[in-house]
Amino acid sequence: MDGLRVLIASTPVGPLGSGIGGGVELTLHNLVYGLGLRGHHVEVVAPANSLHLGERVHQIDGALQISAQGLGRGALTELPAGSVLAAMWSHIGSLQDEADVIINLAYDWLPFHLTQFFDVPVLHVVSMGSLSDAMDHVITEVERLRPGRLAVHSAAQAVTFPEPSIFRVVGNGIVVERYDVQLTVADDAPLGFVGRISPEKGLEDVAELSSRTGKRVLVWGKLQDKEYWHRVQADHPGATLDYQGFLPTDDLQAQLGSCAALLMTPKWVEAFGNVAIEAMAVGVPVIAYDRGGPAEIVDDGVTGFLVSPGDIDALVEAVARVGEIDRAACRQRVDDEYSSAAMADRMLEWVGDVLAARVRV
Ligand code: UDP
Repeated sequence: MDGLRVLIASTPVGPLGSGIGGGVELTLHNLVYGLGLRGHHVEVVAPANSLHLGERVHQIDGALQISAQGLGRGALTELPAGSVLAAMWSHIGSLQDEADVIINLAYDWLPFHLTQFFDVPVLHVVSMGSLSDAMDHVITEVERLRPGRLAVHSAAQAVTFPEPSIFRVVGNGIVVERYDVQLTVADDAPLGFVGRISPEKGLEDVAELSSRTGKRVLVWGKLQDKEYWHRVQADHPGATLDYQGFLPTDDLQAQLGSCAALLMTPKWVEAFGNVAIEAMAVGVPVIAYDRGGPAEIVDDGVTGFLVSPGDIDALVEAVARVGEIDRAACRQRVDDEYSSAAMADRMLEWVGDVLAARVRV
């Protein structure tokens, strides 16, 4: 497959570069780079004020979509007046003669529903686990009407949905060349936490660990829920959580490398956990709850430790043992499995299968 014209639809929750899109922003960046490396022409459709990426970013005006996390299983599908999501897909419709394939990264009802009306294949990378009945239903409908168009980042993510077998597992990747490995750190190196500051990320367990051990934790990420952030601090006065802000990837990776370990204590099934591979890329072992994407990324005892979700004693013990992990092995794992090229090849295999099986209806 030479010179494919690929159109990627970003998330409508925020402009690229804002951090509101969480891991989707990194996934998109990596896909643009990886598919470009393989000689394909990639354009992106995203909300206005997005960073420039790839050959072209079509900047679309409109009202941003509310994030799907935390809305509940019975949540209805809602669009604001002047929806950017609707405008993005009108624009994508007008571009479809110029694309061989459309890849949707948005976890929203509309693009899934529209799949059946496009002549060009629309493929969906589902970025979160099952959250609502309406989304589960429309995702299942895509499989019924256009089989083979659905992918997830991890097997653990797939099993949160009613029919796990309808998904292809494509993992994820990062532009690993942009990450400088730090093979040694000081004895009193801090721990790290990277992620949206929001209840599903379980920062309170990290605060508990910090107050029990006296360890300092550097915290990077979008302050999505300020009230939650203040509550975590108020509930754990003995914890040392040093908020470092939300940084662009290059700055984040340069600072993260000085940490002894990255802590991942999510309360939900993390679909993948991009921050795990970013930490490993800079040589930082990952201590994570044994659930969801991180449980598939972390090789227990080799690239970090997996502990039972909610078990703070086990977290404390894992932190004490982190010196046993070879930081070079963490980086090696990312080079082998999570590079842009590795991810692009998995995606292209999928695109190839869809194009080969395609029947116009
Ligand atoms: N991130 C960042 N700067 C920061 C903190 C986080 O760019 O200061 C990015 C991080 O690199 C990662 C994303 O935010 O790509 C979080 O993605 P993840 O898959 O871990 O979680 P999500 O937010 O999608 O649930």
